[in-house]
Amino acid sequence: GIATKAARIKKAAGDKLVLSFGARRTHPAVSPFNAFYAFIGGCDAVSCIKGADFLGIKPTGTMPHSLMIIFKAIRGDHSEAWIAFDKHVEADVPRIILADTFDDEVEESIKAVQTLNGKLWGLRLDTPGSRRGNFPAIIREVKWKLKALGYKNVKIVVSGGVDEEKIPELIKAGVDAFGVGAAIANARIVDIAMDIVAVKKNAKWMPISKRGKFSGIKQVYRCWNCMIDVVKLRNEKPPKCPKCLGEMKPLLGKVIENGKIVIDFDEPSKVREYVMKQFKKLDLYQKPW
Ligand SMILES: [Zn+2]
Repeated sequence: GIATKAARIKKAAGDKLVLSFGARRTHPAVSPFNAFYAFIGGCDAVSCIKGADFLGIKPTGTMPHSLMIIFKAIRGDHSEAWIAFDKHVEADVPRIILADTFDDEVEESIKAVQTLNGKLWGLRLDTPGSRRGNFPAIIREVKWKLKALGYKNVKIVVSGGVDEEKIPELIKAGVDAFGVGAAIANARIVDIAMDIVAVKKNAKWMPISKRGKFSGIKQVYRCWNCMIDVVKLRNEKPPKCPKCLGEMKPLLGKVIENGKIVIDFDEPSKVREYVMKQFKKLDLYQKPW
């Protein structure tokens, strides 16, 4: 479910960046796997450090709200957090200021841009839906007021309740990148299960299954032009594509034999490319054939 949801969100976001920000949405023992599947599903980067480690990529994130809260509590001014971040964090880390912690997004954005004059890569707006009002309108206002002050190239990163159906209007409003947490990390599972569908008797496979299940060893065939899948018994003739009548290719192969994994797994980045190649050909809301 996680990889599928990540794929749907990346499909909706197109060439805009999608960052997996779901590390705190599940138990720490699960978070790295969560990040792993978010990436192979299509996310461009992940914030979970251990997840990025498994993936062999650099973790990506922005400053947390806790930094602003500490500076406000101890020093009385949260904008000192932005200056401290710029002073102490490695130079190759893009300066993305979190601009919504205490005040209006527009006012904080202008203050942030002026504070880090010229060094700012982007602003991150992360306001919970309950406080947000019309978020695309807020983004338009931020971008407009920054442009009027001469800051045209500041990127806008949004996070907090981002999901696939909200993405198109946010892109229209001028968003450059999305931080996605719960929508991916807490995605619904894909309802699948393993079942016994055949038993080997006297060196021959006998189709058998519990009632309600389809018996026999199967193969799934795909038309790579139409992205249509057809399930057949393995000993049936391979089908032609029901739409274009073209050739269909088998998808299933042996992974485990006598308890041993018999295939080599591809690098996560290659799996991600394979996933993206497929969803480029699919429509987000297309019905199954
Ligand atoms: Zn076809």
